[in-house]
Amino acid sequence: MIIGAGQAGVQTAASLRLGGFKGNITILGDEPVLPYQRPPLSKAYLKGEMDGERLYLKPAEWYVAQNVNVQTGKRVTSVHPEKNIAITADGEKLNFDYLVFATGSRNRPLPIKGAGLQNVFGLRTLRNVDQLRPHVGTDKNLVIIGAGYIGLETAAVARALGAKVTVLELADRVLERVTSPIISTFYDGLHRSHGVDIKTSTNTAKINGKNGVVDSLTLSSGLTLPCDALLVGIGIVPNIELAADAGIACDDGILVDERSRTNIAHVFAAGDCAKRTILPYGHIGRLESVHNAIEQGKQVAAAILGKPLPKLDCPWFWSDQYDVKLQIAGVSTGYEEQIVRGSIKDNKFAVFYFKDKKLIAADAINSAPEFMIAKRLILDGTEIPPQLLGNNQCSLKEIVAHY
Ligand code: FAD
Repeated sequence: MIIGAGQAGVQTAASLRLGGFKGNITILGDEPVLPYQRPPLSKAYLKGEMDGERLYLKPAEWYVAQNVNVQTGKRVTSVHPEKNIAITADGEKLNFDYLVFATGSRNRPLPIKGAGLQNVFGLRTLRNVDQLRPHVGTDKNLVIIGAGYIGLETAAVARALGAKVTVLELADRVLERVTSPIISTFYDGLHRSHGVDIKTSTNTAKINGKNGVVDSLTLSSGLTLPCDALLVGIGIVPNIELAADAGIACDDGILVDERSRTNIAHVFAAGDCAKRTILPYGHIGRLESVHNAIEQGKQVAAAILGKPLPKLDCPWFWSDQYDVKLQIAGVSTGYEEQIVRGSIKDNKFAVFYFKDKKLIAADAINSAPEFMIAKRLILDGTEIPPQLLGNNQCSLKEIVAHY
């Protein structure tokens, strides 16, 4: 039984069948639609360039052909691992031999008065986007709280659709939580050049409404901004309560080992809800990415099937804003040194991050080869002099031939 019909849940089911699992597989999901990909929600789907059908991770026929019982609109409300039973919101008692938590995460709520007004949105689900889209058209005033990837991707789409966009960020730079000042400065400039008003070091004091609908925001500075729609993109909270209530060890994530096993023998967790040792770094954390959900789904299947641990990949992520593709290899937290390769002014460069002489991460802007090579060097724990990677006179091929 898999709780959560998203990227990790579907990957677990697919890998189980690929690995020869003959038992029943049930996926229980509380959303009303078949499992879908989330990345296009703040990109092509919001822009209207991708229809809903193309979002599905697998077509309806796949579940029939693979004998995977996917149940939508089915919320699990409690789990009893000692009795091998899960109970759903409609009171159904379901048995399992193995249980997988693939419950993902939810939008972090904004702790400000007025956050419950109409036209205040989050961006996590298909429903969220369908509700938001009519409010990002020509001349609408869209305010976005949070200059993380989702906030900035939405800003880029909203500008393309003609909205007036203001981004408010509490930190002193955009993307502060996830990247270096070089990349933050680049994206700040990119958005401003497309007409986005970015206000950093800015706190929102109050969301004001008229007849229950948001119409303006008051900042801590006292400034008032007109607002037809407000998008809150201030991060996520992992869905761990179901597991914690069932006695499974959690700490801002369901704790799992390298095979995605929890502290209870026949219970597993994968994706945004799971917390694990992040290789090749050795620290414990949660990764909120498609790559992580897929990797852990494969680990769960291998553990259930008693197969060797699947080959690990370097963590990776991407973001599309305007005509700029960012590809991120590794996790840059704690880097000691950095070097730029390529040309920032031409929107084609990579920042490489180092710790203990080893390459630990790279942010590659419109630079796919740098991203691909960084993934390999990071996974191998390669010691490579920063100046060498930053030398634009030498081709990347020449440089890495020796490593
Ligand atoms: P989810 O996909 O969230 O699936 C979990 C499912 O479980 C949900 O449907 C949830 O409703 C359901 N559920 C929870 N509790 C219960 C319950 N009790 N009973 C039944 N069902 C339950 N990652 C990238 O790598 N690159 C990107 O560019 C990127 N862009 C993104 C853009 C957006 C707008 C968003 C929201 C995410 C993006 N991500 C991106 C992150 C990526 O989509 C997630 O990391 C990934 O979807 C996690 O998969 P998951 O299966 O763990 O969780």
